[in-house]
Amino acid sequence: MKERYADIIVDISHEKVDRPFQYKIPLTLMDVIAPGVRVHVPFGRSNQDKVGYVVDVSEKTDYPAEKLKEITSVDEKGISAEGRQIQIAYWLKRQYGSTMITALKTVLPVKQKLKRPEKKKIVRCVSAEELPAVIRICRQKHQVAKVRVLEALFTEEELPYELVRQKLNVAPATLQTLEKQGYLRIERESYYRNPVRQMSREEDRPCLHEIQTHIIDEVTADYQAGNPGTYLVHGVTGSGKTEVYLGIIERMIAMGKQAIVLIPEIALTYQTLLRFYKRFGNRVSVINSTLSMGEKYDQIERAKAGEIDVIIGPRSALFTPFANLGVIVMDEEHEGSYKSESSPKYHARETAIQIASLYGASVVLGSATPSLEAYYRASLGQYKLYEMKSRPKGSVLPRVCTVDLREELKQGNRSVFSRKLRGLMEERLREKEQIILFLNRRGYAGFVSCRACGHVMKCPHCDVSLSEHRNGQLVCHYCGYEEPKKMKCPSCGSKYLMGFKAGTEQIEEAIHREFPEARVLRMDADTTRTKESYEKILSAFADEKADILVGTQMIVKGHDFPNVTLVGVLAADLSLNQNDYRAGERTFQLLTQAAGRAGRGDKPGEVVIQTYQPEHYSVVHAAKQDYEGFYEEEIAYRDFMQYPPVAHMLAVLIISQIQEQGQSLSERMTALVNKEMKDRRGLHVIGPAEASIGKLNDLYRHVFYVRHEEYQVLVEAKDRLEAFCREQEMKNQMVQFDFDPMTTY
Ligand code: ADP
Ligand code: ZN
Ligand code: ZN
Repeated sequence: MKERYADIIVDISHEKVDRPFQYKIPLTLMDVIAPGVRVHVPFGRSNQDKVGYVVDVSEKTDYPAEKLKEITSVDEKGISAEGRQIQIAYWLKRQYGSTMITALKTVLPVKQKLKRPEKKKIVRCVSAEELPAVIRICRQKHQVAKVRVLEALFTEEELPYELVRQKLNVAPATLQTLEKQGYLRIERESYYRNPVRQMSREEDRPCLHEIQTHIIDEVTADYQAGNPGTYLVHGVTGSGKTEVYLGIIERMIAMGKQAIVLIPEIALTYQTLLRFYKRFGNRVSVINSTLSMGEKYDQIERAKAGEIDVIIGPRSALFTPFANLGVIVMDEEHEGSYKSESSPKYHARETAIQIASLYGASVVLGSATPSLEAYYRASLGQYKLYEMKSRPKGSVLPRVCTVDLREELKQGNRSVFSRKLRGLMEERLREKEQIILFLNRRGYAGFVSCRACGHVMKCPHCDVSLSEHRNGQLVCHYCGYEEPKKMKCPSCGSKYLMGFKAGTEQIEEAIHREFPEARVLRMDADTTRTKESYEKILSAFADEKADILVGTQMIVKGHDFPNVTLVGVLAADLSLNQNDYRAGERTFQLLTQAAGRAGRGDKPGEVVIQTYQPEHYSVVHAAKQDYEGFYEEEIAYRDFMQYPPVAHMLAVLIISQIQEQGQSLSERMTALVNKEMKDRRGLHVIGPAEASIGKLNDLYRHVFYVRHEEYQVLVEAKDRLEAFCREQEMKNQMVQFDFDPMTTY
């Protein structure tokens, strides 16, 4: 037989060994070694035992064959990657920058095979006709326990062992005797752990509206014509998008295909799961961070074995290894959590489209406030766009008014509540209707503004707000520009130049002070450390156990509160002054979603947006619930500044133990891009600068950005930088890549 060789990625995550190593395949393993198989190999000078994944098999080798080591064995306990998963991993590595082994681990969330749990059952061994005679004999002998089991087995041929033991109170010895006598058999069977509890499947299917039917028909028709596409469903919350997803998935299942449904983890509520369960029963499952390893493993096995058709979960559910994937649905497509925060920093939207293309599957994106990326691609004709303008249940959109906080200060009102908001709150409390107060604390990143005129201190080069550092300097985290903090506003001369400092706790205190009789619930990162506490607060509010719910952005999602008729946004511009180019988009999304919380029931809702910048286009368009208007202004800004999605941006983060080393490495890396890629027209290198969090866990962070119209040019920059890093002594240093980052570093 001819010798064969395997290319193997060894499980060590280090740039230096991030390439396949060749091994000889021993004769005994010739039939089982294929791409994806997990194996043991001797590695390095000391022949340490390591595991690795075979990525390729060939009959040629570039080395003298006698020098190659042999694969030791196949790792029976480990999970193999399938060919398609290796392809996906390779794409992730190329597209986003990471080592191959890290990419492989991303697509294989569970590495170890786990034993399946077992369950015992009792099976009757005599016919129903023979049974009464047996029961009679037992009764004569006063064997009451035996009678109980046998009578139960008269109607059911099989019974769960636990039920017989506990409910019927029969001792194991009795069951063993009956087994010896040949009346029944105790059987073991292994089963899959199923995180979805049995629920009622009664469903009232709405009669679909024309637009809903139209979308379902077109998506499936394209698919059947061998022309699967990417679709963007733009529809306000409650416009019937989920009904569209259900319809498309139903058609896919009828064609023998499977579906992945991505939902941001925090929005995956019991109600959502219930709707999918009612439609698809035990053929649907979930995968998320609250599952145990065993539960996760079993969902992957069930998907492989064809036991389920639909998996629901956050971004990682994308890698569910279905055999015949037909569609990937991505709800709340604009959500920031769809971008991975660890290497490879992939975006679920792009990755979904890539995975779908490997399967010939369709991708359906849905959102009330689409990301600029998705809407831009739709406007270029790359995605098909559907608009769902109204709510089927006919509830009206709320009335929105904007309050200028500068005026409040002028009138001597220093409360966090404007006069308008306070008036409406008093009214709602009297009427026993509920109130949501929303504070966007994420923007609390140390920006400085004038409380008299609203002027925000900005970088003269980057159009992002400056952050206040503890030493009193104002710093731009894009380019490193610095200036000392001024004593007076450069625009109006007022001395009220300060950072906005108010958290949800202070708001809660203010309510207690100004509305002592109101019952308040608070929801933020501190009060929701577990998923249960999150659900608990929401359901307490839904049960009207409180009048006011105060919280950060997490309250604007999920749950319907029909009795909420007033939503107050306390400081809309907090999120506007984040020092990055997505601030306007994020603010618009948050304000629109917050406004959508008011008036979901029969009563009309009102929204008060308090802001220092009432004229800002994000605020103006959100108040009018005008997505297109916002999009036009925002995309013009991105185009002018050459920010994503019009152009692309690569952030390179250098993490080091010694500050000078990080500084020096980041300078050499920027110099390298500037030199080696200077013939690339339109390529900009911005930085290096100290990151906005310059030191984290005692590690120093430096950052620079590369910008170009074409994504692939940035991939080339990344490849060159990776090659450069492989040649360096990279002790105590780490480099991370982030394409089209969601945040600034
Ligand atoms: P979204 O996903 O856009 O928030 P849903 O699909 O959840 O919207 O629909 C909102 C509500 O309207 C749900 O209670 C749903 O059952 C109902 N609904 C959806 N489509 C229809 C329809 N064609 N007729 C009546 N009710 C509908
Ligand atoms: Zn001012
Ligand atoms: Zn700058």
